[in-house]
Amino acid sequence: MIVRTIQEGSTLTFEFTPETGDELTVGRASLAASTTRVELDHSDEIHPDLLALAATLCVSPWTKSIKMSVPVSEGFAEAVLSGMMIAVGPVDSKISSRVRPVDGYPSLSYSGGADCTAALTVMPASTRSYFLNRISRPSEGWKGLYNKDAALHSCDSLAKEGMFIRKIETDLEFLRNPVGFPHDLANCIPAILHADFDCLDSIGWGAVLESTYRVGALKYRDYSFSPFVAGFGAAFAAVGLPVYNAVAGVSEVGTSLISLNSKFGKYAQSCMRGTVGEPCRNCWKCTRKILLDSSLTGKWPTYNEIIRMFKKVATPTYLDRNPLKHEGVIAFMAERYPVDLDQGIMRMLQDKVGGYPTGWMLHTYTPALQFIPEDYRELTAASLREYMPEMNDEEVQTVESWDIRELVKSDSRIRDHEVFMNSVRDFDLG
Ligand SMILES: [Zn+2]
Repeated sequence: MIVRTIQEGSTLTFEFTPETGDELTVGRASLAASTTRVELDHSDEIHPDLLALAATLCVSPWTKSIKMSVPVSEGFAEAVLSGMMIAVGPVDSKISSRVRPVDGYPSLSYSGGADCTAALTVMPASTRSYFLNRISRPSEGWKGLYNKDAALHSCDSLAKEGMFIRKIETDLEFLRNPVGFPHDLANCIPAILHADFDCLDSIGWGAVLESTYRVGALKYRDYSFSPFVAGFGAAFAAVGLPVYNAVAGVSEVGTSLISLNSKFGKYAQSCMRGTVGEPCRNCWKCTRKILLDSSLTGKWPTYNEIIRMFKKVATPTYLDRNPLKHEGVIAFMAERYPVDLDQGIMRMLQDKVGGYPTGWMLHTYTPALQFIPEDYRELTAASLREYMPEMNDEEVQTVESWDIRELVKSDSRIRDHEVFMNSVRDFDLG
C-alpha cells in the first residue's frame, strides 16, 4: 500500500494506493475509499512515525507492506514488523524515534460511554481525552442509526468541568465497508496525531476485563498475547506512547460501578442511537447497561419494560445467542433481580446463563495493572481501590480458569436457552 500524507494547515489527508499483494476484502470488511482526512487542532509538523502509525491503523486489515511518502525511523519499522508483521518504509537511519516526554500527559481515547468514563475517573486529573468525531464524506450521506449528539454533549460537559478534551473530526470510518473502524484501535488516531502538539506520554482506551481477557466469552486469553498488546503495543511504545489501559482488569460491572460513583458519571451514555440524556432503550447496549445499572442501584425498570427490551434484541446477534456477548454481566444482573418482582422470565434467564460465580466482577483483577506505564501504576491502582477492592487469590484463579466451552454445549444449557427465548417471544405485553 502506498501512502501519501498531505498536510494543508490543520487538514491532514492520507491517500492510499493499493499494490499487488494487497487484499482489499478480508472477511466482511473491504477497503472502500482511497483517501481520508483528519481535521487537526494544530498545523504543526507531525513526526513521521506518528503519521505512519496512524496510516497503519487505517489500512492494517488489507496490507502487509506500507510505503509512506516520508521515511520512518528504524525502531518504529522494527516494532511494526515484529508486532503486526507489516513492513513499513522507507526507513531512514538518520530519523530519530519520538522520545516519550518527561513531563508529559497521559491520553485517553474517549467515546462517551461508561467504560472510558471509568478509565478517565481513575486516570490522573491531567489526562487528555480525544473523541473521534465522525463526519460524512461529501459523496455520502449519514449511514445507519448512529447518533453522536449524546457523545458530543458528554465531551462538552467534561470540558465545562475543566477537563482537557478534543473533538477531532475525521471521515476515516468510511474507509471501511461496512462503515466503522478499520482496526479497533483506529479510535486512537486523534491522540496519536496530537501526541507532540499536546506532549502526550501514553495512550489509553476503555477496554474492560471482558474484552481484554475475554472473561465472559468462551475462554480466558492472556491479554499480553492479544493483537492490541502483542500486536500494536510495541508500535505505540516505539512512538513514546506506551499503552495505558486503566480498566483492563475491571469488569463491565466494575466500570458501571465506578461510573455511577464518578463525578463524570452523569455524562456517560453508551448508546450511540439515542439523543442527549435519552438512550434509545431498544439496542443491546441499552438493555445490558440499563439492567446492569439497575442491579447496582436497586432501581429496576418494570417487569414489562424489561421484557419489551428483551423482545427488541431477541435476534441471533444479541439475545438469541449462546453464549451471550459479555455473558457474565448478564449473569450478574439476573442473579440480583429481586425474586418478588419476577414473574418467571428473569429466573429463566438466570438458568440460561448461570453456573458460575459473579461476585468477583465487583473486584479488580490486579495482574492487569501491568498494562499501565510504571510511573502511573501505583496512582491508578490507588484510584481503583477507592471504588472497588482487589480480587483475592481465589477470584484471580476464577478469572484465569474461565472456560465455558463445555458448559454452553451441554443439553441443559441448550434447553434453558430455548425455554428462555420462547418465553420472551410468547410473552404478551398487552
Ligand atoms: Zn440504545
